[in-house]
Amino acid sequence: MKIITSILDLNKEIKNYKNIGFVPTMGGIHAGHISLIKASQKKKRETIVSIFVNPTQFNNTIDFRKYPRDIKKDIVCLKKLNVNYLLLPSTKDIYKFKARKFVLRKKDKILCAKFRKGHFEGVLNVMNRLMSIVKSKDLFMGEKDYQQLYLIRKYLSKKFDVRINSCQTIRTADKIALSTRNKLLNKKSLEKASHIAKLLIKIKKSKLQSSKFKLDLSDYKIELEKKFNIKVDYLEFRDEKNLKLNNLKDKFRLFIAYNINKIRLIDNF
Ligand code: AMP
Repeated sequence: MKIITSILDLNKEIKNYKNIGFVPTMGGIHAGHISLIKASQKKKRETIVSIFVNPTQFNNTIDFRKYPRDIKKDIVCLKKLNVNYLLLPSTKDIYKFKARKFVLRKKDKILCAKFRKGHFEGVLNVMNRLMSIVKSKDLFMGEKDYQQLYLIRKYLSKKFDVRINSCQTIRTADKIALSTRNKLLNKKSLEKASHIAKLLIKIKKSKLQSSKFKLDLSDYKIELEKKFNIKVDYLEFRDEKNLKLNNLKDKFRLFIAYNINKIRLIDNF
């Protein structure tokens, strides 16, 4: 595995490749990230993983500072996986060139876009930059961050003529979605996260089985908040294709974001 820290070096390295699979991450490599890497390798792509904790997508500097980082461990893990390139760019390098600014359309200001002001503008900004640097044929992203996947498809996929491959959420045996942020949770919070995930799987199942199921989940939201002492930002069923509310055809998902001990977790089922 070659480790590349400058965009200039990356350009030199990859200029003749037409077969790149790109896996952008913020590090703290776990089995969720690994599933994206394996999907790229399965397609026989020259796989580039980037690790960049993007400051512009954090709407809170404390959250940015305490985001778990362990680059040494990540390198060992990525080497074992035979990743071709690891891109470790500096903030200066990523933000040194002019690029389009993104403003979300009103109808996209839902779910996390409503609760984390500026977050997705930051995600689109950095992804626009990374994708213009890496120029991959395939991009691999997780359904764990479903709204992110949706917005990148919507705002960026045409510009870059890239195939966006979505990969299922990888969970622990007790149903917690893997996330680098989980490292910030203590044992009790992890237990709660597991109970919450199992409960939400049940709620989704009962919706699938009953035509009379109430779409308004405010009672469940209050119950979750009381039972687990958490703050739920949203708990909503939305259409899988267009993320619309109350207009559910056969494919829909249950979306949640909540704060547990000051750590914000998101998931969807
Ligand atoms: P992150 O490092 O959290 O920014 O995530 C980098 C990529 O990995 C994104 O496309 C995420 O959606 C994806 N990802 C994160 N967690 C998981 C998971 N548990 N299962 C599958 N993909 C994931």
